Amino acid sequence: MFVKKNISLKSYNTFGIDARAQFLLEIENDEQLSEAFKSSQFRALPKLVLGGGSNVLFTKNQRKAILKINIRGIEVLDQKNNDVRVKVGAGEAWHQFVLWCLDHDFGGVENLSLIPGTVGAAPIQNIGAYGVELKDVFESLEAYEIKSGKIRSFNKEQCQFDYRHSFFKGRGKDQFVITSVTFMLTTRPIFNVSYGGIQQMIDEKELELNIRNISESVIHIRQTKLPDPIKIGNAGSFFKNPIIEKPLYDALSLIYEDLPHYPVDLGSIKIPAAWLIEQCGWKGKRMDQIGVHERQPLVLVNYGEGKGKEILKLSEQIQASIQKKFGIELAREVNVF
Ligand code: FAD
Ligand code: NAP
Repeated sequence: MFVKKNISLKSYNTFGIDARAQFLLEIENDEQLSEAFKSSQFRALPKLVLGGGSNVLFTKNQRKAILKINIRGIEVLDQKNNDVRVKVGAGEAWHQFVLWCLDHDFGGVENLSLIPGTVGAAPIQNIGAYGVELKDVFESLEAYEIKSGKIRSFNKEQCQFDYRHSFFKGRGKDQFVITSVTFMLTTRPIFNVSYGGIQQMIDEKELELNIRNISESVIHIRQTKLPDPIKIGNAGSFFKNPIIEKPLYDALSLIYEDLPHYPVDLGSIKIPAAWLIEQCGWKGKRMDQIGVHERQPLVLVNYGEGKGKEILKLSEQIQASIQKKFGIELAREVNVF
């Protein structure tokens, strides 16, 4: 196992925060993972599991040993009729896996194109975009249980997937390291183009409806709307879209006639957090090295030398102003360390 000592984490998180870590262990396989937890050198140290660092905010130097998960491999387990089961190592880059699926004509993940990060982190918050969530293509996963040192298998039900949430962000937090994910893909996909302008792009460009064109449309929309972390540090949406109860929605819609909303289930309504943040005057606000993105106010940004603590403070100010104006609690999506 490759161990780096006293290093900057700047290139290990898409916010580009320059926090330091005492130890960073590059984990290539299950044996190295086990060694990281059992060896006399690292046993006693608390651990922080890291994938691509695209959903984390470092607010201080890390005294924990960082376990950077690089476990690779993509394997077709079996193919029956139109169903294909594919097992993927936790360290594979998510978007590379999507491209691999397109190359093999396996449908299911095309709407999730261009999401940064690793396959192993994808179940943690049940990644989602453009009307598709990880749970829609998920079959099972394997995870190293820290307490027992054993590899355990989880089916979909056990993962308790929810809106940007799972067992691993809830009761199972800090107890498991995901080592592989198995997907159920299909050679006869049902296209989902109802969301966020995909159909419009397909129509405008007169494209054939297939997984490659859906992926390319999603990539195009994302590139025009979202900041590229290589150019401006960010971790995507800093907050989740709040889901509110109907009575609160009814009261707010009397005041704000243009309140955007999406029914989730009977009696609950999703409100785009970006709209709430914009209404509170935060869109495009810049405070020296940090700020709120000018096109997508759900994304907080680091212009280069910003500190994690400053971004956290800004996020708390945004949360307070939305609570005050709308009576809505914005929950953080990004994991703060
Ligand atoms: P990290 O940031 O490294 O880790 C995230 C959390 O998971 C941490 O708590 C970490 O400890 C834990 N973790 C990581 N790997 C493992 C593992 N193997 N086992 C156990 N725990 C682990 N998210 C969406 O859902 N939809 C989007 O459309 C989307 N778009 C984004 C766009 C941009 C520009 C950016 C920067 C981010 C976006 N995200 C989106 C957020 C992010 O990309 C996803 O949450 C992604 O799954 C995080 O993967 P990661 O490998 O970078 O995880
Ligand atoms: P958008 O299309 O401007 O829409 C704003 C919000 O309204 C979205 O977040 C989405 O919620 C919701 N929405 C839009 N159309 C909807 C529909 N037909 N049905 C139900 N809800 C709808 O959003 P955007 O910012 O450009 O992002 C596009 C997609 O990429 C979204 O799915 C978003 O979640 C995802 N994304 C996620 C991140 C992240 O870091 N988590 C970053 C960038 C983009 P949902 O979020 O529930 O889909």
